[in-house]
Amino acid sequence: MVTRLSFIILAVLLFPRFGESQTIKNLPQDYFINPLDINLRLSGSFGELRSNHFHSGLDIKTNQVTGLPVYAVANGYVSRIKIQTYGYGKALYITHPNGYVSVYAHLSKFSPRIEAYVKKLQYAKETYEIELFPNDLELRLDQGEVVAYSGNTGGSGGPHLHFEIRDSAERIINPLLFGIDIADSKKPLVKQMMAYPLDENSTINGKREPFQLRVIPQKNGTFKVEPFKAYGTIGIGVNTSDQMDYERNQNGIYSLTTHFNGSKNFEMTFDRFSFDETRHINQLIDYKFFKEHKSRISRLYVPEGSPLSIYRNTKDGGKLNITEPNTTHTYKIEICDFKNNSSVVHVEIVNDDIPLEKQVPDNTGLTYVNHNISFNENYGKYSLSIPSGALYENALIEIKESGDKLIVGKDEIPVHKNMYISYDMSSKTGDNMKQYYIAEVQPWGALYHIDSKLKGTTLSAGTRNFGTYTVAKDDLAPTIAPLNFKDKSWISNAKTLKLQIDDRQSGINGYRATLNGNFILMEYEYKDKMLTHDLADNVVTDGENLLKVIVTDNVGNSTTFEAVLNFKS
Ligand SMILES: [Zn+2]
Repeated sequence: MVTRLSFIILAVLLFPRFGESQTIKNLPQDYFINPLDINLRLSGSFGELRSNHFHSGLDIKTNQVTGLPVYAVANGYVSRIKIQTYGYGKALYITHPNGYVSVYAHLSKFSPRIEAYVKKLQYAKETYEIELFPNDLELRLDQGEVVAYSGNTGGSGGPHLHFEIRDSAERIINPLLFGIDIADSKKPLVKQMMAYPLDENSTINGKREPFQLRVIPQKNGTFKVEPFKAYGTIGIGVNTSDQMDYERNQNGIYSLTTHFNGSKNFEMTFDRFSFDETRHINQLIDYKFFKEHKSRISRLYVPEGSPLSIYRNTKDGGKLNITEPNTTHTYKIEICDFKNNSSVVHVEIVNDDIPLEKQVPDNTGLTYVNHNISFNENYGKYSLSIPSGALYENALIEIKESGDKLIVGKDEIPVHKNMYISYDMSSKTGDNMKQYYIAEVQPWGALYHIDSKLKGTTLSAGTRNFGTYTVAKDDLAPTIAPLNFKDKSWISNAKTLKLQIDDRQSGINGYRATLNGNFILMEYEYKDKMLTHDLADNVVTDGENLLKVIVTDNVGNSTTFEAVLNFKS
């Protein structure tokens, strides 16, 4: 006979998280081992809100050091190796027999067998950055085999291992769903809350603008916000994060559910998403608030046209209707981490009077851009093109030529696809035309290079930021300085050759190093502006060796460095 208790145990085993209709089920729980043989502690969680993307994996702390062995989490074969200066840095992809792919990024180097495989092809193709797709017979691996060493390469802010699990459709899945266990008994934090009027008639406390709600912690561990008045269709937003045991850093939450007047009206869960959705994070968050305050408020309603698959079971898209006179509404947010520790926020909304008159906003000097129609306009020597679909919604933007600059609004509206800025260069003929580029002017005056193309007399560049643009000229070539050797140095006992490279205007675009006329591999670490050659590559010969390093910036200025290096084996 099945007792009630054993039924509950059975239910818990079969349905570890009930009530989530679209949660992916039947993921293997013991298939993958940990990729590091230390206690797993996270500096980043799956789905965490980052700049222009949701974090696609776990960032596992490596005790602030690089060089920890990284293990194949299951049997399989290396199906992809990608080395980039930016992004994932050195990354390894392993395909497993069950179809899942594990990904390990920001590595310092690969295991000797894989390192030899990669270097051979880097030398053959004469490049550091490379992408390889070995077949299923070339680099087979056993579970637990050391495949690489942890590092800090690419866009990494400190030593850690970025670890992902993808399915055969290249969707990324929360690795914790595969049974990876991380101690967490702390509840998510509730840091800031906002209320948003969502149509032209709606108000929050009498005003037609977003209102920040004071968060009041309660004795019983829940949260309240001050009751507020509203009219019309409104939405709520929250800035929340999770803390794990023994950790000071904050990570992302796992799921969030809201109830309006007792019934569920919105849910989001970070268990799986695709890379092509990830930029829509800028539509999820209150983008303007983020740009002004550097904190991310998640809007708890579905923005128009959002394809995000993290939204579940929404009613009215999570929006709240507060039009019925003399009513008080309850709204509840429940925020959960992966271990089901939860924080609850109770909100009380009092119906306000219908606003007396329609507000007539002052739109003088602003240009209306319909997000479904392509926009093309000239401003003096500049022209601006905003393709249909580049914006998520219609916008009023200040666009004007100002001195030698083009002002294209402020970076407070998210842009999904490239807009194009062009400049008529015909007055600059005779000059070194190639040295010009379109730059984004930072609020503090710095110029950021944007990849620009000169076609005839038109210079143009694509950008996904509103802001101020100008045409800049880079007439300074890069600098190259050797760090651990000099011209005519003896390098018989050296392990590496290191050079510092820099370009103060348009930035470094590329480099090429040769020894006695033959390509040698140099790894570029942009964070410390360093080129490194590993002398274990064994390319030096007895006697004099001529090292030549050419570095090119983003407009094509280049600098050549030469040194003679003495070597005796
Ligand atoms: Zn990461």
